[in-house]
Parts: sequence; structure tokens; C-alpha cells
Amino acid sequence: MTTARSVLIALVLSVSVASGQSSIPSPEAFFGFAPGVKPVRYDDAVRYCRLLASQSPRMRMVEMGESYEHRTLFYLIAGSPERLRSLDDIRARHNRLADPRTLRPGEEESIITEDPAVVWIGYGIHGDELSSVDAAMHVAYRLAAATEDTVILKNLIVCLEPIENPDGRERYLSQLQQWSGSISTGDVQSMQHNGSWPYGRGNHYLFDVNRDWFTLECRESQARVPAVAGWNPQVIIDAHEMGALDTYLFSPARDPINPNIGEPARHWSGVFAADQAKAFDAHGWSYYTREWSDDWFPGYGSSWGSYVGAVGILYEQAGTDGSFVRRPGGTTMSYREAVEHHVVSSLANLTTAAAHRKELLHEFVASRRSALEPRKGEPRAFYLLPRANPTRVGSLVERLMKQGIEVRTTTQETKVRALHDATGGEAMTRLLPAGTYAVSMAQPLSRLAKAILEFDPRMTTAFLEEERKTLQKEKDSKLYDVTAWSLPLAFGVEAYWSSDDPASSFTPVTTVVRPQGKVVNPRPAYGFLIDAGDDVSIDALVGLFRRDYQVRAARETCVVEGHSFSRGSLLLRLNENPKTLVDSIISVAASAGVTVVGVNTALSSKGPDLGGNDFVLLRNPRIAIPAGPGVSMTGFGALWHLLDFRLGMKVTLLPASQLATADLRPYNVLLLPSAGEPQAYQRLFGKGGIARLKEWCEGGGTVVALDEAAAFLADTATGASAVRLRHQVLKDLDLYAKGLEWERAAAAPVVDSLRLWGNVPVVKDTAKGAKAGPPNEKELALSDERARLFMPRGSILRVNLDPDHWLSFGAGDYVGALVYTADAFLSRDPVRTAARFADEDHLRLSGLLWPEARERWAGTAYATREAKGKGQIVLFAGEPNFRGVFRGTERLLLNALLWGPGFGTAAPLEW
Ligand SMILES: [Zn+2]
Repeated sequence: MTTARSVLIALVLSVSVASGQSSIPSPEAFFGFAPGVKPVRYDDAVRYCRLLASQSPRMRMVEMGESYEHRTLFYLIAGSPERLRSLDDIRARHNRLADPRTLRPGEEESIITEDPAVVWIGYGIHGDELSSVDAAMHVAYRLAAATEDTVILKNLIVCLEPIENPDGRERYLSQLQQWSGSISTGDVQSMQHNGSWPYGRGNHYLFDVNRDWFTLECRESQARVPAVAGWNPQVIIDAHEMGALDTYLFSPARDPINPNIGEPARHWSGVFAADQAKAFDAHGWSYYTREWSDDWFPGYGSSWGSYVGAVGILYEQAGTDGSFVRRPGGTTMSYREAVEHHVVSSLANLTTAAAHRKELLHEFVASRRSALEPRKGEPRAFYLLPRANPTRVGSLVERLMKQGIEVRTTTQETKVRALHDATGGEAMTRLLPAGTYAVSMAQPLSRLAKAILEFDPRMTTAFLEEERKTLQKEKDSKLYDVTAWSLPLAFGVEAYWSSDDPASSFTPVTTVVRPQGKVVNPRPAYGFLIDAGDDVSIDALVGLFRRDYQVRAARETCVVEGHSFSRGSLLLRLNENPKTLVDSIISVAASAGVTVVGVNTALSSKGPDLGGNDFVLLRNPRIAIPAGPGVSMTGFGALWHLLDFRLGMKVTLLPASQLATADLRPYNVLLLPSAGEPQAYQRLFGKGGIARLKEWCEGGGTVVALDEAAAFLADTATGASAVRLRHQVLKDLDLYAKGLEWERAAAAPVVDSLRLWGNVPVVKDTAKGAKAGPPNEKELALSDERARLFMPRGSILRVNLDPDHWLSFGAGDYVGALVYTADAFLSRDPVRTAARFADEDHLRLSGLLWPEARERWAGTAYATREAKGKGQIVLFAGEPNFRGVFRGTERLLLNALLWGPGFGTAAPLEW
């Protein structure tokens, strides 16, 4: 391209940094190629950033952690040399503004008059969105190489994170390098532009880190979010890429907007957009705002800031994958142009921020001040109870605290009034146990805290009307992501909100104390017991499996020597284990943080005795998970992260393309992740593969299938499971209704002794079945099709658990399940439905669930278990470990994987 346009563009990246001459090498001089010729690699980028920080008095570099592949995560700080010399003081003073409760009279005004505003810009959180990282090199250079203080350096502290997801970027660049030849192509279908599975968007474990800003499941977020929070920025920017044939999008977002985002944040978003538009107009570049990115879900980098008093800004540049793309109308877009668009955006935003420094700081303080006063009728506090699972509640609290949210706790039982739970029932008064956590809404970060904790934010009717219209007319949704995420519901912890302030007995938490492991009665006569209620029991079980001990688990609750144990609790009999057990149990207890109780007898004072058949021998799981094209990257990645990283288990990653022929004999558990479409597994297994899978399962294997994998096994074309997809059995709906009726009757048996023992005439049940005629199948198909359209859009639905089934060990009476699928599952005897969606009146806990979907999903199956020969199939209607944080439903999955082979399959006897 040698047009006037390219000359103009070239000027953008090559323009001198300021008047005067800097000795600091430009990116071109340092990397050895002209700007935008190709993407910079991580190692080179880090070296360059270190150089800038070491040579420029206007730049610092701060390391904040490392990625899973051990790459340093860091950010640069730019500002005037004078400010950087006293950076700690500047930061301390600046952070005083973040808590208006502690500001002394006149302090706010004096800080705002003197001090800079803070802007945080992150680049490349999605590793395959390349151009922003190269843009970051140029923005950093301009700031570092300035020979005098520009208005940006005078008025701002700029925190610049050049590479938010180094593992994803490096993976993607290696792929593109592999698939690039000597002649470059602009055809976006080429692998030169796409790479190969698992591409580069996610981090090492394939998480979308740009959904993790408040859930903090990933290492990158755990490093970044506290760093951002520690700076209390006034502007937070996140730079991305989108489809190659697009142009450029920036904030503001379109509806739905989360109600916790204040009006000022939205106003300022418009101010920044107007200046950014002018900067683009100066070059005649195309761009747009408010088109597809909404601000409902709070876990994006660009939206997280909107809850903490900052202006959140999103950039989306059409991707060119480091080269160029051919576009409709015969034009091309080069990598260099993509990089330039981000540079111009960043400089425009920094200029706006610098020009409005004072107003932004005032707005920030005003926002934090207004956050101290909860609005009328809104929660004044949230309570998180440690009762069933202190470890899990502690883990949730830690995530809040890392974002700067204040949490309180109490050492005494406290009566709290006006409590509401997630089911939306009447207000109640409860005695909350010692150790309960309280999150007051009278704090500077109450908007963020409320956005994370509240059970059920509401969308506006105007948006819902628009969404309904789009669904019906376009068969498409306006929603960009899930509509529900409430962390207490996701974590499956007991939680309430109250319209009362927390009592004064609640005092600030400084650190969450992790449970210390211990062994009570370390030299017992009979064996050791470990309660299965807390999540630490899972770590303990994995530790015991790793050491190859024989572990049993209790089918029922029991009390032994005064200690109570819940269902699923672990038993190690001394006579079944080697003598080393007594010594190593101490280290198992210590590393898991679990309490182990030594007992001298097999006799229980309540529940089954320890020597009987209600203590089932568990089998060490040997788990294989298919990975590769066809399998959902994030679905697979969350499972891999859970088993490999969190639990430290050995798992085999089976190439998905070889599922049909792989030798499954080494494994006793096959875990099938979600897939995007059920046909994916039809293709991967093929007819022969399905037959082999059935044979393996019947020989004693446990198949655990999630979401589309479950739909594949339930599909009548596969015929592996007796569970059915609702739309395939419409003519049998009455049978499933009858089955559900019997299941409910079994759960609450009623014995009519008169009728049983006496000769009382049997009264026919005439009320039921009196409805007119058999259902019209065509009509049913039509309404089912319509209900599929109105599917749950990432909503949290109530799932009631069968208290007698091993799949519900340690999971309570009900859990909130994330549902984001059009598939509803029907099951009846002999399939055991251990987890079933609640009835219509109790189904929706959070998020958007249209009445059509409510009717369709009510009473359908969430988790099922069925015997197949000596083996079993366990199906989940969704991803129970969605994004790694749905700990409530995740427990059911872990029961299937760790307890399941023992409880549900027949092991061969050793000889
Ligand atoms: Zn992105």
C-alpha cells in the first residue's frame, strides 16, 4: 500500500515524542523492524520495557506476579520525574481520596489541586488479540522518551500493563509462525490467521481472563486486580481485538447496563468517547460505539472500573493477526494500522484524562462518598455463613478483600434482623454463628461489592422488550454474556442480605485464617475418620489416593466416640492399610488443612458401624479428558485447572481426534467436557467409537459428561443413556411427569395404615388425569421449539438435591446451577436423578429466565446417574464448574469423579 493514506498513517507511529532529542531507542531501533511489521514477542517486549524503565526518569517497572508458564506479569508507571521520585508519597496521598470517611477537612481539595489523576491501561488480555501489545510498546516509548513533561506526564500517573496474558499470546504467536509461509495471505480463513486449537484467547488453562476480574480464579487476575485496586485509578482502559472484517469499537456500552454503575461513570464515558472520535475523525478512520458490547456482567476489565469510581473504557480493533487481511470491497487492513488505532486511542484518552484531571478526581471522591450511603430499600449488608463449609466461605472472602472490599466478622453468635435469602421469601430474624462474615454497604466500594454479591439484579423493561423482539424476529440475543454470577450463589454458601447495618460486634477482617490440619487421637485402635462437609476433605482424599491408601466413604451420617460425620465422610481402617498410614496421616492432615479423627472402635452410637457395608471402598480415579478441536476450550480448561492445578491430580489429556480409537483401558473415569455443539461428539466418536465407549463403560468405567457431551449421550441417535433430550420425547411427556410424581412420592413416603391393614375400599384418584384429551404432538413440538429460543441466558437456577444419593455428598439441600443451554433433559426410573431443577415457583434464583424457559426447565434433570453393566454414566445439564467458580455444583462433579467409581461401579477382585 503506497497511498497518501499510508503516508499519513506512518506519521502516527513515527512522530517524534516531544521537542528535543531522546537517547532512548524507539521500538523500531530496539526490535529491529518498522512499527507494525510484525508482532513483538514476549521476551523482547519485557527487555524493552526494562530498558525504558532503566533509562527514562519518566518510567518505572513494577513486577506483580507470574503467569502459569512462569512469565513475569508487570506494569509500567509513567509520570513526571519529580513525581516518580516521590512515588510512594504520591500514591499514599492519592489513595487517601479513595476513602472519604478518613479525609481531613481541606485535605481533599489540597490533594486534588496538587496531585495527578491515575489512569490504568491494559493491553492484550486475550492472547490472540495481538495489536494492542505492540501499541503498548509505542505508547510506553512516547511516555518514557519524552524530553520534557507533556500535559499527560504533568497531570497523570499512567499505569500501563503491556501484556496482560503472556502465555496466551506466546502460544498464539508460535501457532501463527508455524502456519505462515514465505508468502503472506490476507485470507482470514487461512491458518496463518487462525492458528489452531486451543488458539490464543485464554491463558495457560484456557480461561477467559477477561471474565475473571471479580472472581479472581486465575493467577493473572490474582496479580493484576490487587495491583489495580492499589492504585485507585480514575480511568481503567482495556484494549482488545474483534473480528477481522470489523472496524473499531469503543465505549460507551449499550444496554443492558448494570444498575450498580452510577450515572457519572456513564457521563464520563461519553466525554472520553467524544475526544476519541475526534482523534479518529482526524484520520478519517471508521469506528462506532454502543453497538454490541453491553455492561451487564461486571467481570470485564473495562466494566470492573465502573464499579470502583473509575471510568471504564473498552477498545475493540478489527484483528489482522500480525499481517494483513483482505476485506469486503477490496480493501485491506494492515497490522500496522491496527496498532496505530490503539496508539491513537490511548493517547486520545490520556489527553482527555489529563485535561479533566481535577474533575475526574472530584468525581472519583464523590462516587466513593455516595457509595457510603446505600440507597433506600437496598441492602445495607450481606452476610456469609461459614456453617457448612468454612474453607469455601473463606476463599470467597479472600477474593473480595483482594479487590479492596472491606469484610467484617464476629467471634460471637449475633442476632440479625431483616434477613433475606436468595429464594426471595419473607424477611427473617436469625441467630448467625460466630465466624459469620459481614460485608457492609456503607463502604467506599459498596457498588462493586453489591454487584458481586447481590442475588438478583433486574434489567429494565425497555431492554427486556428489545431483547424479546430480537429473539423472536432475529432468532438472536442482544446479551453478550451470562446474566447471572452472584458469587454466594455460585459458591453455594449460605448467604443473606439485610436492610439493617451490621452490629458493632462485627470487626474488620485483616486476613482469612486457613484451617490448620490436625489429628485427634493419632494412635487409634481401629482407624481414622475425616468429615466430608468442608472442601478440605477433597484435598485430603486426593492426598490419600496419591499415597495409594484404601479409603472408604460413609453412605449415611454417623456418630463415633462423640464425633459426628456427614454423608460421604472418609474412613481409613487400620487393618486395610499399611502401617505407614499412622505416620503419614499427620502430613495429609497438615497439607489439606483437615481434621482427622482417630477412633478406637468400629461401633457407632448413631448411624452405620464402621465395619459394615455402608462404608464403601473408594477407587483411585484414573481420569482421562479429551482435548482438541471439537471440545470447548474454556470448558476443558476449567476441568484441567481444577484437577491438575487446584487438586494436584494426574490426568491424561486424550487427543479428541483419537477418541474413537484410543485405548481406554488405563482409565476408570472418562470426563467429557462441553463442546459447543452435541454433534461434535457424534463426529469425534463415530458409530464405532460409541460402541467402544459403551463397552468400556459396561466393563466398569465411569463416564461423566457435561453440557453438550451429556446431550450427545442422551441423544436418541447415540442411545448410550436412558436420559432423554426433552424435544426428542415430546410424546412421552406424561410418562416423565408420572415418573417425577413417583420420585417425589418416594422422597416423602406416606403410609396410610388404615388402607394398608384394613379392608377400606380404594378411592380412585379422579382429580388427576381428568384434563381434556391427549396432548397434540405438533403443538407440543411448536411450543418446545419456542421455549428453546427463550433458553436460559447464563441464569442461575435452583437445583434440588436428592439427600440420599452419593452425588450430593457435602452439597447441602440445593445448589445454584449456571444454565446456558437450549437442552433440557428428562429422566425417570431406573435413572437416578440426584439433582433436579426446582418447580416453576422456585426455579429462578438469578438472571434472565423467560416464562417459556421457566416452564420448560422446571422439574427437568440437572445431574443423573445410571448403571451400565458394571459401570455407570453421570450426566450434567451444564458445566458444573463453570469458569472455575461455581463451587456449589462443582462439588457434585467432584463427587462423581472421586467418590463415583467406588460408589457406582463394580471393581474386579484382585487375584
Ligand atoms: Zn478481547
